[in-house]
Amino acid sequence: MSIKTKDPLVAKLLIDEAKRQSSTINLIASENYTPKEVLEVLGSVFTNKYAEGYPGKRYYPGNTIVDKLEQLAITRACKLFGAEHANVQALSGGPANLIIYQALLKPGDTIMSLKLSHGGHLSHGHNVNISGQSYKIVFYEIDPVTGQLNMKKIAKLAKDCHPQLIIAGFSAYSRAIDWPAFGKIAKSVKAKLLADISHTGGLIAGQALPSPFPYADVVMTTTHKSLRGPRGAIILCKHALANAIDKATFPGFQGGPHMNNIAGIAVALQIASGRKFKTYAKNCIKNAKALSEGLQKFNYKIISDGTDTHLLVIDLAESGWSGKEAEERLEKVGITVSRSTIPNDMRSPLNPSGIRLGTLAMTTRGLTPAGAKQIAGVIAATLNKKSNLTVIKKQVAKFCLKYPIK
Ligand SMILES: *Cc1c(COP(=O)(O)O)cnc(C)c1O
Repeated sequence: MSIKTKDPLVAKLLIDEAKRQSSTINLIASENYTPKEVLEVLGSVFTNKYAEGYPGKRYYPGNTIVDKLEQLAITRACKLFGAEHANVQALSGGPANLIIYQALLKPGDTIMSLKLSHGGHLSHGHNVNISGQSYKIVFYEIDPVTGQLNMKKIAKLAKDCHPQLIIAGFSAYSRAIDWPAFGKIAKSVKAKLLADISHTGGLIAGQALPSPFPYADVVMTTTHKSLRGPRGAIILCKHALANAIDKATFPGFQGGPHMNNIAGIAVALQIASGRKFKTYAKNCIKNAKALSEGLQKFNYKIISDGTDTHLLVIDLAESGWSGKEAEERLEKVGITVSRSTIPNDMRSPLNPSGIRLGTLAMTTRGLTPAGAKQIAGVIAATLNKKSNLTVIKKQVAKFCLKYPIK
């Protein structure tokens, strides 16, 4: 018997959500659609298994098969990213960062990271997050003139504050990262370098963006953003740190790994190592550039004047819209974007001055640069106060039919 007869309430929500996803232009930069084969293993018997420990060293019996599964995921992760060691157990990106801090730092050590409101992540030391309460945090910022990182200023800050850990890799920064420069800065102050490629892991695996190897000591990526897998994270490092990372994960931070997610990660990694995935990674960036240029034609101001990645942030400060108002109005016509702070935002984080847009999800649905330009036009029309939203909503629904979720 299926969920339809056993639990019609949840079944209805499932159908409603599938409909919502297929009839929405999804520009939320951190979202993607995971393929059917990943969904298949996510909803499988692997979810029943307790496997505290690591392959060959478990605290429960019955792990011969999941040992092979986890080892397969590890081998695929190392091969795809060119890493010596991979841990695939972290439950998501935020927990993975806390695990990495536990492996590398003592409480009270100094972390240097990009400020949240400039494009960083909560788990990089924001004061509402445990990372900000357990370590001393020094934030670097985006250069107000270029909208980009200023490596000279970052180098100077590192010399002044002597961090034990420097974090590069962001949530709302649209430019390629100069990994050799970050590596050099970290070395010069004897800090470790964490490359948090949560957003761009898939684009780096697909060779569309430069890799943080060999400059970073530890690399972390989520598996559900550009890697198009299940929710989860992978921590990659050299042999020398392998034991510290594994111990900090289990027993340091978590209990049993989610073996069904690890199965999904293994499948996603296999797909990401294929030729088609390289094309996907390149197309995400092409589409983001087209979207950015399309919006600039309608006089929208893009932070840093464009993008090298799959995402961009629109500065709405002079547009008459707050980020929240724009997000809500776009949702009314079936376009999802997320409100975002902009560097030196004059408004509050709950109602900031920007919106963040990304192309990972729509590129999975087959978006082309021409389609991305069309989306720019629909966004501009929606944010015109005189527009008829009912008409636009119909256009969006029609557009979505051309880009089915497969
Ligand atoms: C998304 C993201 C994370 C956290 O991922 P979750 O899976 O949501 O916990 C961490 N760091 C960066 C830079 C991110 O963009």
